[in-house]
Amino acid sequence: MSEITFQDLALADPIQRALSAKGYTTPSPIQAQAIPVLLEGHDLLACAQTGTGKTAAFALPVLDGFARNPRKPFRRGVRCLILTPTRELAVQVTESFKTYGEGLGLKIGMVFGGVSEKPQIKTLYGGLDVLVATVGRLLDLKQQGHIDISQVDTFILDEADRMLDMGFIRDIRKIAAAIPQQRHTLLFSATMAPEITELANSLLHNPKEIRIAPQGTTAEKIDQHVLFVKKADKQNLLLDLLKEHTEKANNNELSLIFSRTKHGAKNLAKKLCSVGIEADSLHGNKSQNARQKTLDDYKRGRVRVLVATDVASRGIDVKNITLVINFDLPMESDAYVHRIGRTARAGESGKALSFCSEDEVALLRQVEKLIKRPVPVMNSHGYHAQQIEHHHTSGAPAQKPKQGGGGGGNRGPRGGGGGRGPRPGGGKPKPRSDSRPSGGFQKAANAPRSNRSRGRNR
Ligand code: AMP
Repeated sequence: MSEITFQDLALADPIQRALSAKGYTTPSPIQAQAIPVLLEGHDLLACAQTGTGKTAAFALPVLDGFARNPRKPFRRGVRCLILTPTRELAVQVTESFKTYGEGLGLKIGMVFGGVSEKPQIKTLYGGLDVLVATVGRLLDLKQQGHIDISQVDTFILDEADRMLDMGFIRDIRKIAAAIPQQRHTLLFSATMAPEITELANSLLHNPKEIRIAPQGTTAEKIDQHVLFVKKADKQNLLLDLLKEHTEKANNNELSLIFSRTKHGAKNLAKKLCSVGIEADSLHGNKSQNARQKTLDDYKRGRVRVLVATDVASRGIDVKNITLVINFDLPMESDAYVHRIGRTARAGESGKALSFCSEDEVALLRQVEKLIKRPVPVMNSHGYHAQQIEHHHTSGAPAQKPKQGGGGGGNRGPRGGGGGRGPRPGGGKPKPRSDSRPSGGFQKAANAPRSNRSRGRNR
């Protein structure tokens, strides 16, 4: 909990006004620590996840610099370049810059793959103060001469660990080599794996380091449970839970269901629609525009239930999600922390329920090892499978399921989503030592329920 307020941080007036308009008075821990360091001009290596307020932690000092030192962008040029692993995160970061930088008259743009290049080329033509980009599309546009990054003075890598998981390390190095060595560099990552430290050593100059919380911490406000259930009963259990949740929930509360496979997600959403539950799916087989539309409908509350693959496990910031259900447990335990972190956003509370069938016992054990505690069991449902619980508690050997053997479906990679998508051989995350922050927010007592009532955030 930080005791300082945004007023204490001496940010330029238009930024203070934008923060007041959002109802933000108290910086989150990552903001309280990062903003002063960045205002002093240090490079930064920060261990923080999406959901901790990290976007404002880097956006506010950058915007402050623009407010104090206005300069006209030059043709095709960029001053501040932010790399993100996914298109969804690029959209969110861009929206944040626009919100916090309202009144500064800046040119803020984004480029990402999966959509036509033409409008992006047009935006780049006049030059930009801030460009948010996924790696593949940025390099494509640079190679075609549509963008000049030779005068970037601030370089930010957001969710760097995920970019590495997706195999973008060489491209990141190419980009870093094409921008001036004299620059301000910031690297944000949910983990501090050795590869991240290595990347940081090569890109950052004498950085300040910030770590918010120890390894594997899951947001304290999330009420987590595991439900032991036979695979064949999962759908019925899901329907019961969703019915119960909808009856209790406020009108604007949303549910997010994770499926291991793209087909599983699609089929499950169809099934829910067929029994009268308004649902849609989000996965890597959908076009970028279709994904953005689904996400917008969900954020606006037009669809209350979203069934997604891990394309939505990180980076997606929707405030009203009060229930996350892991219909399938994730193959990599890291994803569990990211998935359940989609609820209890910005200081709210939330519930995370994970189904565990016989072939998922090994995955549950892996999750418990990561978060360093058992997930409490919920057996007050009509499909409790005692034998599976017994298998889990007995410690008897258990095997991991095959990738793609989940929710109803297909094989194929997890729904990725950035730039050009995962590279062959680059998509398999390596085991690593995590260090996860849990930095939360102190809500101002008189702060408006910001975007909750509008059902749309940022
Ligand atoms: P982020 O980790 O950047 O994705 O931010 C998570 C959510 O917290 C976003 O919806 C932000 O708009 C919101 N947020 C950021 N900073 C604050 C703050 N100081 N107080 C309250 N909410 C915040």
